[in-house]
Amino acid sequence: MSRVASIGIDAGSTTCKLVAVDQDGAIVGSSLEPTEPRVELQVQRMLDEIRAEHAVAGTAPTIATGYGRKLIKEATRNLTEITCHARGVFRDLGRAGTLIDIGGQDSKVIQVGDDGRPVDFMMNDKCAAGTGRFLEYTAARLGVPVQELGPRALSTAQEEPISSTCTVFAESEIISLIARGAEPDSILRGLHRSLVGRVISMVRSVGIVAPLMLSGGVARNDAVRKMIAEATAEDVILPGEPQLMGAYGAALLGM
Ligand code: ADP
Repeated sequence: MSRVASIGIDAGSTTCKLVAVDQDGAIVGSSLEPTEPRVELQVQRMLDEIRAEHAVAGTAPTIATGYGRKLIKEATRNLTEITCHARGVFRDLGRAGTLIDIGGQDSKVIQVGDDGRPVDFMMNDKCAAGTGRFLEYTAARLGVPVQELGPRALSTAQEEPISSTCTVFAESEIISLIARGAEPDSILRGLHRSLVGRVISMVRSVGIVAPLMLSGGVARNDAVRKMIAEATAEDVILPGEPQLMGAYGAALLGM
C-alpha cells in the first residue's frame, strides 16, 4: 500500500512544486519544474507522475496553493500561500516567529503563531523589486545563472550601490555601471543589498518576532540570508527545503 497520505501542489508564478507526505507528515516524494503556460495541464502530468511513482490511490487528498491554485481543478481544496508557507515552515522548524517568503514574483512577511497559523502578514505582489525577478532580470544582463548570484555577490567586499528600487530603472542603472567598467560581482552585491532593503522595510512594518525564518526559492540564495541577518542583527534560519514549503504546508493541511 502507498505511504502517501496527502499531496500538496504549489502552482507558483515561476516554479511548480509537488510534495507528497506520509501519515506522520514526513516528505516521501517531491518534484519541482519551471512553470509552463498551461499550468493546469502541467500539474495534471506532475500529479500522474508522483502518483505512479508512489502507487498513490486517486482518493488521497490534493491541496493546491500558489498563484495558479484556482486553475487546478483536480485539487480537493485550495489554500493561500500564506497559510501553507506558515504551516510548512512551522512543521519543519518547530518554531513560531517571523517568516519571510521570497518567490519569483512576490514576497511576503508572515507572523507565524504558536499553533503554526498566520497571525499577521504583509505581501508585495505589485512590484518586482523585493522578489526573485528583480535579481533575475538584472543578473541576466550580466550573464550570471541564478545559482551563482549569491556566491558571486558574497565573493567581493566592494559594493556598487543601486539606488533605483524599480526593476526597470535598476536595469538601466546597471547598464551604465557596466559601461563605466564596474566589477560585475560588486554590481551583484549592490543588487542584493537593494532587494534586501525592500524586504526589510516590509519586515519592519510587520514587526520582528524572533527568530527570522526564510522560505521560497530566493531563500536558496545565501547572500540574501546573510544580508537580512546583517540588517536586522537577528539570526535567520531556514527549513531544509525552503522552495518546497508552500507545497509541503498544503500537503500537511490536507491530512
Ligand atoms: P514562486 O513560488 O513564486 O513560483 P519560487 O519560490 O519557486 O517562486 O522562487 C523562484 C525564485 O527563486 C526565482 O526567481 C529564482 O531566482 C530563485 N531561485 C531558485 N533557485 C535558486 C538558487 N539556487 N539560488 C538563488 N536563487 C534561486
